[in-house]
Amino acid sequence: MKQYDYLCVGAGLFGVVVAHELTKKGKKVLVIDKRDHIAGNVYTENVDGINVHKYGAHIFHTNNKKVWDYVQQFAEFNRYTNSPVANYKGELYSLPFNMYTFNKMWGVITPDEAKAKIEEQKKEALSEMAEKRGVSLEEFVPENLEEQAISLVGTDIYEKLIKGYTKKQWGRECTELPSFIIKRLPVRLTFDNNYFNAKYQGIPMGGYTAMVEKMLEGIDVKLGVDYFENKDELNALAEKIIYTGPIDAYFDYKLGRLEYRTVRFDTEKLECSNFQGNAVVNYTDSDTPFTRIIEHKWFEFGKNKDQEEIPTTVISREYSKEWEEGDEPYYPVNDDKNNKLNLSYKELAEKEENVIFGGRLGEYKYYDMDTVIESALTAVEKL
Ligand SMILES: Cc1cc2nc3c(=O)[nH]c(=O)nc-3n(C[C@H](O)[C@H](O)[C@H](O)COP(=O)(O)OP(=O)(O)OC[C@H]3O[C@@H](n4cnc5c(N)ncnc54)[C@H](O)[C@@H]3O)c2cc1C
Repeated sequence: MKQYDYLCVGAGLFGVVVAHELTKKGKKVLVIDKRDHIAGNVYTENVDGINVHKYGAHIFHTNNKKVWDYVQQFAEFNRYTNSPVANYKGELYSLPFNMYTFNKMWGVITPDEAKAKIEEQKKEALSEMAEKRGVSLEEFVPENLEEQAISLVGTDIYEKLIKGYTKKQWGRECTELPSFIIKRLPVRLTFDNNYFNAKYQGIPMGGYTAMVEKMLEGIDVKLGVDYFENKDELNALAEKIIYTGPIDAYFDYKLGRLEYRTVRFDTEKLECSNFQGNAVVNYTDSDTPFTRIIEHKWFEFGKNKDQEEIPTTVISREYSKEWEEGDEPYYPVNDDKNNKLNLSYKELAEKEENVIFGGRLGEYKYYDMDTVIESALTAVEKL
């Protein structure tokens, strides 16, 4: 009989939810992480009372009542609503595209005026593009992201709010990107700048780390421990493994490496109390090298845990970049090549006895926080 029933490799949301639920079922669980902290990518670090989202801004949003009720056990969520602002060469616009955006862009007042303006721009641009290609308006089919975006929202919104930002995100001109990247561009003819359409939204008061700490109460945790550097020793400790690290790393990359997209965060503490007046500001021109600036204090309305105003601030500039070895693997690239490779790894994983692969890296799948929690709860039901 081994010391633990389960070893969870990774103290991110997947590993921690599984560990919590197994412990509730009376199992003995050990959680390890190679990082020196818990919470994986939702980790928040407290700087002067500000919970800094170390691996990128994390806003909890979900339509899943079961998951929403689940997380309430571990934290009280505030009423934060994500309403990003776009900065185009000093002109500020409300996002996602809504009546505030259209009023600022064209001075229109009513939804009908906004709709007419968008239609007028779309028609004009589409006619020009069709003429250039030598086809009729009816025959014209967008062939790249630029054409697709213009055909959906017209020229002004594309030029000021989409073109530069998308170029920075993908590292390529919109004319060189495939049209399918933008299938829809929601246009709201209401004064609603709530970015997410989710029923439930908020930030755990006191930060995500405190929430995860609560989930791990009474569970053994070892940090700064890399599974692969101590594999035999760790396997000897537990009957079964829940593995949430990269699936290709588990198999020592023997079929090749899976690719990721990454972001570089340049974080700075400033001796001012209010840098930009909003948590998220997107820089939508192509000259500014970063895509966004996050001002972390506004996720919790500028207050510390005692509800006092914080005199300083912390900002993070976000730079999109191609992933290279050594970078944090953030977003799986779910193109044909990588999906195929992942399937081959999945076949190997299914043959692995007593190991369950889960989470964003273990399944090579983009999960939001709510969906990763749901997937962890489903995984536990099967154990
Ligand atoms: C930039 C960014 C912004 C995001 N914003 C949002 C948002 O606003 N809202 C939202 O709902 N979701 C957001 N997400 C998604 C969210 O981060 C994920 O859903 C969640 O973190 C997934 O949890 P996980 O446990 O699968 O993975 P992770 O959090 O990555 O946890 C995996 C853990 O395994 C550890 N590990 C890996 N290999 C080993 C090893 N060999 N030995 C020991 N430990 C190991 C890692 O150190 C890591 O801590 C965002 C993601 C990113 C990248």
